[in-house]
Amino acid sequence: MTERKRVIQTGWNLENSYARLPKSFFNIIKPNPVSSPKLIILNYSLATSLGLNGQALQSNDGIAVLAGNQVPKGTLPLAQAYAGHQFGHFTMLGDGRAMLIGEQVMPSGERVDIQLKGSGKTPYSRGGDGRAALGPMLREYIISEAMHALGIGTTRSLAVVTTGEFVVRENQQLGAIMTRVAASHLRVGTFQYVSKWGTAMDLRALADYTLQRHFPAVDAGGNQYLFLLREVIKRQATLIAKWQLIGFIHGVMNTDNMAISGETIDYGPCAFMDTYDPETVFSSIDIHGRYAYGNQPHIAEWNLARFAETLLPLLHVNQDQAVKLAQEAISDFTKLYHYNWLTGMRAKLGIFNEEVQDEELIEGLLSLMQKYHSDYTNTFLSLTFDTRWDVALFGSTEFAHWYELWQERLGRQKEQKASSHQLMRSSNPALIPRNHQVEAALEAAVKQGDYSVMERLLDVLKDPYAHSTEQIDYATLPAISNRPYRTFCGT
Ligand code: AMP
Ligand code: MG
Repeated sequence: MTERKRVIQTGWNLENSYARLPKSFFNIIKPNPVSSPKLIILNYSLATSLGLNGQALQSNDGIAVLAGNQVPKGTLPLAQAYAGHQFGHFTMLGDGRAMLIGEQVMPSGERVDIQLKGSGKTPYSRGGDGRAALGPMLREYIISEAMHALGIGTTRSLAVVTTGEFVVRENQQLGAIMTRVAASHLRVGTFQYVSKWGTAMDLRALADYTLQRHFPAVDAGGNQYLFLLREVIKRQATLIAKWQLIGFIHGVMNTDNMAISGETIDYGPCAFMDTYDPETVFSSIDIHGRYAYGNQPHIAEWNLARFAETLLPLLHVNQDQAVKLAQEAISDFTKLYHYNWLTGMRAKLGIFNEEVQDEELIEGLLSLMQKYHSDYTNTFLSLTFDTRWDVALFGSTEFAHWYELWQERLGRQKEQKASSHQLMRSSNPALIPRNHQVEAALEAAVKQGDYSVMERLLDVLKDPYAHSTEQIDYATLPAISNRPYRTFCGT
């Protein structure tokens, strides 16, 4: 009897709803093959939830798709057009080094974009090489997966492959392609592009597509486009509050890097804050601190105002009325953001109910943290476990006074101490991807081809609220250095 070879299906189930939008929204892309793709890391559990077979993805054919050398049957890869305000200046952009290979329809029925980042030149490359280096792609992999585990809306990372080719940056680096999974790649910048260069019909088509894809609960009888604006504002208010609560600094909050879905997108110069200081900036090009930690809510509102402007023709036939509706919606952002932030901060301090003085109590702690240069994450961890790591802060009389006020506050709620402790445990992570630890993982991977440091880091970051013994080592602070941590864009 002859044994029939069993072919494992990868499970790609790709559609191209985006390609049904007006032709000016994208360019169909032919593969830009790379010489010798090698799989570096695969997100097995994400693959499974997408309906993909992890084993098949690791075969030569599976890797060929992740490298952009092969296109799964029945899909039309494309590069999306978009514009954006970069550091306040409006520019035409588009996928200059990425292609959307399609939308994977998951077993759950959900639809997500599958995008290859670093996949070669496109009509939007503007003189760039269309490629990416291994270090930055692994960095995005680590940080986006950490964000997901921290419970923060984000694009995900399915895999990173090296290309076998070199890219020229400040030196020669090994090229890599990351497979990014996103609710969609619709950006504020996509609306800006269509609003600036498209027709009224194009704009309506984009808005209708967005509603269908992300906000299907829309009431057909109401002002659907006002609903769209309000929902996007709500999602951003939720997202930015989570960034602030965890100490995440995106670094390049240009309008093209703000996703309509409410996911964090485009991990370029992002980094996590160690010492609490609202003025913290890591990005080497953010000279004026436009995207500093403390400025993120304000920038989000600014970006949303740009989004609202693109929708004006759809909001009302009368332009004054349209502006009024847009302004009302935008003014809700600060209220919604503040509410989310305050709720999150109460939880970080084990507080269940609301009292008007809570904000003063929270601000009191933050200003002491700033004064004593305390580590943001570890201060909350110390309060959770009643340890005293930071001698400067915890040894001060101001802190002793604050601590008394906090204990009194906890005493005024009906919940017991144990419940407060539980709430704090689940609101204050045991660890974040610390910059020095991410760098150590990348250095071992890129310089020595040793992926074990990264794998261990990814492992402890998987469940940041577990507070396991293995995680304790990762709460160690970086050695004091005179050189501030610096991050870079477009690498
Ligand atoms: P980012 O800073 O990653 O948000 O990218 C801003 C713009 O620059 C986007 O349009 C990217 O597609 C484009 N871009 C970044 N790196 C490259 C590259 N190596 N080649 C071509 N385009 C790029
Ligand atoms: Mg971008």
